[in-house]
Amino acid sequence: MNDFIKKLQAIVGEAFVSAEPEERYLYSMDQGTMPPAAPDAVAMPETADQVAQIVRLANAHKVPLVPMGGGLVLSGLTRALKGGVIVDMKRMDRIIEVNPVSRYAVVEAGVTQGVLKAYLSKHHPGLKHSMPDAPPAATIAGNVCIHGSGHLSVLGGFHSDMLTGLEAVLPTGEIVRTGSCSVSPQWFSRAPLPDLSGLFLGWSGTTGIITKLGIRLFPNYRYNDVLIYVSETADLMPEIISRFTGVQVAEDMTPWMTPKPDWARGFFHINVAFGAHSKKELIFKRNLLQESVRSITDTGAAGFLPIPPVQKSRFMEIPSPDLARFADARKGGGFEYVGAIMAVERFAEAYRRGTEIAEKHHTTYSLGARIIGAGHAMMFFFAYAFNRADAEDVGRAAEALEETNRACLEMGGIPWKAEAPAQKEILKRMDPNTVSFMNRLRDTLDPNRIMNPGNWEV
Ligand SMILES: Cc1cc2nc3c(=O)[nH]c(=O)nc-3n(C[C@H](O)[C@H](O)[C@H](O)COP(=O)(O)OP(=O)(O)OC[C@H]3O[C@@H](n4cnc5c(N)ncnc54)[C@H](O)[C@@H]3O)c2cc1C
Repeated sequence: MNDFIKKLQAIVGEAFVSAEPEERYLYSMDQGTMPPAAPDAVAMPETADQVAQIVRLANAHKVPLVPMGGGLVLSGLTRALKGGVIVDMKRMDRIIEVNPVSRYAVVEAGVTQGVLKAYLSKHHPGLKHSMPDAPPAATIAGNVCIHGSGHLSVLGGFHSDMLTGLEAVLPTGEIVRTGSCSVSPQWFSRAPLPDLSGLFLGWSGTTGIITKLGIRLFPNYRYNDVLIYVSETADLMPEIISRFTGVQVAEDMTPWMTPKPDWARGFFHINVAFGAHSKKELIFKRNLLQESVRSITDTGAAGFLPIPPVQKSRFMEIPSPDLARFADARKGGGFEYVGAIMAVERFAEAYRRGTEIAEKHHTTYSLGARIIGAGHAMMFFFAYAFNRADAEDVGRAAEALEETNRACLEMGGIPWKAEAPAQKEILKRMDPNTVSFMNRLRDTLDPNRIMNPGNWEV
């Protein structure tokens, strides 16, 4: 390994490779419940060419590589399950292009959510990208890779749907491009070419290392508003969601159910965020949303919550501070959630199963969802906060997460950014021909299986 580390240093510079125990410890875990797995070293490349050199070196020595952005995925996907080197992309932090007319940005893989947001608000205040509620240090690439979602997901779907193309280093070291940028100097879309971008989406870093990507941008409205609709019954939620998404004016819709504070317990809230270029347009959109559920409101089974202006701005913060605040509920820095990607009509069942599981395991929990597209799916989250210093607390959360993953699959959903054990559960239920197809692709792309091994493996 010493010789290998010297070669890594020759590629990225001595200051950007470490095999010191401190770094190996820090990079061995995330905030979730998965047990630590330390890398042998960490390297921070600055260019795509350096990434390609690292990959070729690792391939020649059959050393595993784990690509990492912010390392905030929570489900342990950036742990070095079979040792090797974590390739931390944070030095590749250039915003390469913003096209204000065709509304897309091209960024390097280490650009974070917070940096792109700040850049756009300074240089292109009329544009925004879809932010997740993750800490701002999360990268655009890491989030797109895992099919993340965020504040424009009702408008634009999963963040992977907003990808317009990418540049990646294959496990054998070639640099490839997918989407329009493979033919044209412009990064406007993945169509009309054979869509190779999917080879890097949802694969948890097992198919290559993304070095650049293009993402869609959207109008940043001058006027913004949020409505909160409250129902007493979970069974009404799919209909409410369908009505709101049906009028096609919301940017983001996030149902939330929480046992704390006491006044919120047992109620089903849904935040509906929308924006407009003028006050008149905002009022028009608000009326459309209110009218869409009028017949439900008139029955008295649900209604709009009056929100004082001071509270309203809190509900419109992007990223929302609420999940981050909940994540710290137990102190001690432990937080993880099962994000079940599932059909919207499963809402009530997901809620009931989620509360049963959380109460059975005596965990500190919060439940909620983000609607994807015009009600095409939802990411239903079952979030658990725990104290990392308290082994029993961690154990309770781990058991609850495992049971939730199983429940999600039983309900016809699929755990999102699944931990390695949950990936195995997914593979067990997957069509065998699909599993074999995935394996054949992996063998072709990565004959030495150096890319994030231990993931998507039986
Ligand atoms: C409080 C809180 C709220 C959150 N809210 C949201 C939310 O609203 N929406 C949401 O989507 N997520 C959310 N998350 C989850 C998570 O933090 C984000 O999805 C985050 O964007 C992941 O990005 P990352 O850069 O940290 O990825 P990482 O953890 O670094 O990586 C994620 C995966 O992608 C792979 N990967 C990373 N970079 C590359 C690359 N360049 N090439 C190839 N593979 C790569 C890694 O190997 C890993 O498998 C939240 C987390 C917290 C703590």
